[in-house]
Amino acid sequence: MDTINRLKNIKETLWINPNYHETKPLEKINGFGYVYTKAAQNRFMRFLPYIASAFPETAEKKGVIESQLIEIDNMKQLFNENGTYIKGNLFLKDDARLPIAGSVKARGGIHEVLKIAESILQHEKMLQPTDNYSIINSDEFREFLGRYTIQVGSTGNLGISIGRTAARMGFKVIVHMSSDARQWKKDLLRSEGATVKEYDGDYSEAVKNGRMESEADPNSFFIDDENSQDLFFGYSTAALRLKVQFNKAGIIVDDEHPMFVYIPCGVGGAPGGITFGLKTLYGKNVHCFFAEPTEAPCFTLGMASGKYNEICVQDIGLSGKTAADGLAVGRASAFACNMMKEVLSGTFTVEDKQLAVYQNNLMESEGIYLEPSACAGFHIFNMQNSDEWKTYINAHELGDKLENSTHIVWGTGGGLVPENLR
Ligand SMILES: *Cc1c(COP(=O)(O)O)cnc(C)c1O
Repeated sequence: MDTINRLKNIKETLWINPNYHETKPLEKINGFGYVYTKAAQNRFMRFLPYIASAFPETAEKKGVIESQLIEIDNMKQLFNENGTYIKGNLFLKDDARLPIAGSVKARGGIHEVLKIAESILQHEKMLQPTDNYSIINSDEFREFLGRYTIQVGSTGNLGISIGRTAARMGFKVIVHMSSDARQWKKDLLRSEGATVKEYDGDYSEAVKNGRMESEADPNSFFIDDENSQDLFFGYSTAALRLKVQFNKAGIIVDDEHPMFVYIPCGVGGAPGGITFGLKTLYGKNVHCFFAEPTEAPCFTLGMASGKYNEICVQDIGLSGKTAADGLAVGRASAFACNMMKEVLSGTFTVEDKQLAVYQNNLMESEGIYLEPSACAGFHIFNMQNSDEWKTYINAHELGDKLENSTHIVWGTGGGLVPENLR
């Protein structure tokens, strides 16, 4: 059965990207290279003193927004006991514990808000690149930024990332939420002073309305998850952080020691950005796969059909509804598709009920809580007997190297889920 038919029939699917080009330099693909990641990283660096002072939970790390890389041997053991043998080392990148946002959305969302604030303040001559940015944490700056509004469409976590950061800086904040969004996420945002608007339709509906409302107000900025480059390159800085952690832990990535990364995917911005960053650092030695729910496989659908953002999951009769609320997206980001065309190794889909299994297993074996969306990456290990996986491994001559490989499952969210809802 071809990929589109499998998706249509709600069958779990591993799609290998036929256009994956392992050695082509990123700049040659569409003009974006490492300098974009570096520029975002430099912006975070300029803002360190501000972040450390405005968000006390980051003070200990001096304003660096960081999560742990955790070796999860007990989880690997549990897979093993259940008949799934994992060759190589297994790590969790615990972005659920990223400060401020409690999800992978931290780096992207915060970066875009910082960029907007910086450009306004520099334009008004209130801020120079050489200033100590902690001056922004003052009533004067908050009052000034309060003349502007930041709006965003969100299934929840992007709203939290952007809403909390922007509200703390003094901006007015409007978050346009899809019906899937969890109540506690709306409550949290309202408690921080954001306006939350709710829509009956799906995520695209929320984004569309947000975009329209923002365009009508000259002092409003819309953070556009379906197209944003500033989100994308904010996410990409994760790779620079990971490299530091690899060096510290003595983890080697080279021709003999491949790295595999599995990242849950909604519109594709967060996993796309992370993949882009990793590719600039590790080239053909990193293999990146996105994970999606069977009911909302928008990225797989867009890539496999070649229609990118011009097709949505409802077009093939899927509901787009899933317990993985962070991934409940019907249509992929045009920018992310374009950036991933020749860079992404593949994608896979997973049933909701399986996410709950990984969620429980991770809690049982490692004592780590993730929200359902964030567990999607684990499913790859149950697809390693498929023809698609074997073909990929053979095509890239990885068979003998798997025992030396490092697998990273990206744990993308759940850190702020209230105890009573876990
Ligand atoms: C948003 C989100 C993702 C995916 O990010 P996209 O940019 O939408 O692809 C993955 N996991 C969680 C928990 C998220 O909130």
